[in-house]
Amino acid sequence: MTLQDSFGRRFRYLRLSVTDVCNFRCNYCLPDGYQCTTEEQPLSVNEIQQLAQAFARAGTRKIRITGGEPSVRADLPEIIRTLRAVPGIEEVALTTNGYRLGERVHEWKAAGLDRFNLSIDSLDPRQFHAITGHNRLQELLDGLDQARAAGFNDIRINTVLLRQFNASELDAFLEWIRETPLTLRFIELMRTGDNAAFFNDNHVSGESIQTRLLDSGWQPLLRSASAGPAREFSHPDYAGRIGLIMPYSKDFCASCNRLRVSATGKLHLCLFGEQGHDLRDLLKAEHSDALDQRLLDLMPLKKETHFLEQEETGATTHFAMLGG
Ligand code: SAM
Ligand code: SF4
Repeated sequence: MTLQDSFGRRFRYLRLSVTDVCNFRCNYCLPDGYQCTTEEQPLSVNEIQQLAQAFARAGTRKIRITGGEPSVRADLPEIIRTLRAVPGIEEVALTTNGYRLGERVHEWKAAGLDRFNLSIDSLDPRQFHAITGHNRLQELLDGLDQARAAGFNDIRINTVLLRQFNASELDAFLEWIRETPLTLRFIELMRTGDNAAFFNDNHVSGESIQTRLLDSGWQPLLRSASAGPAREFSHPDYAGRIGLIMPYSKDFCASCNRLRVSATGKLHLCLFGEQGHDLRDLLKAEHSDALDQRLLDLMPLKKETHFLEQEETGATTHFAMLGG
């Protein structure tokens, strides 16, 4: 069985937010830092287990843990271990800002984490500080060395393209992966409810980066039918790869392969949809059949596309509430 919507898209990939708390202040996401807006606690490990089991029964094979910043949860290793033990789940991944990465990465590996994405928006320490509010670039780079030593060898770096902060750094990023086998994923800045003015000042089209890559010998990689919306490129002179995530490009939504659940257990059919659909009331072993049925019943509600190009960002005020 696979969860499938009315447009034939299949969802074997779940992005699970485990907290909306974050300790960074990225200027495109939480420029004033995390503000608590709810009394509701994030899902417990037991609830996460029930949720993951239901998704696995419905065909989910990969779960990415995201946030907020997942590593602010002291029980993150337990969450990883729990997800990894769910029958049917073949891959558990994490997206992190890398806070204290070097200290934590061995524990994540021991818990069964398969891979992680690390957000690095600039290789210039001053710009990194200006974007994230933290002077921690070197800590992240050292953490990457620790991660490789721990056995992670397929690491992706997420970089949001920002006209006023990192748009002139493309060459520096490329130089970095000449000898280093990382995948750099350049993400187009997306408009959210909170960042309209920042978006207008900083959005850079991924198409412009794609043109520069193609002009300098980067080759698009063939995409499998089940691959997500990222376009990937390789170059014979570079050990690393590039991924481009261009949500404003035509047909971006056609390859959507993911569903999202918020930290309080709401299923979001689209990052830019309306309020999520509550699953928490069914996250108990005795409700597993009802949970399976609710997941199936919600699939036809998924819309064909987002409406970002019409400046409609849905209920998403910032990505820390849903994990990107
Ligand atoms: N805190 C973790 C991190 O930053 O990696 C995980 C959560 S964060 C919301 C997930 C990803 O979304 C990060 O790579 C971040 O850069 C990206 N992101 C956040 N807001 C964004 C926006 N408005 N447009 C594009 N990407 C965004
Ligand atoms: Fe925190 Fe990630 Fe948002 Fe930055 S992008 S503020 S690290 S949740």
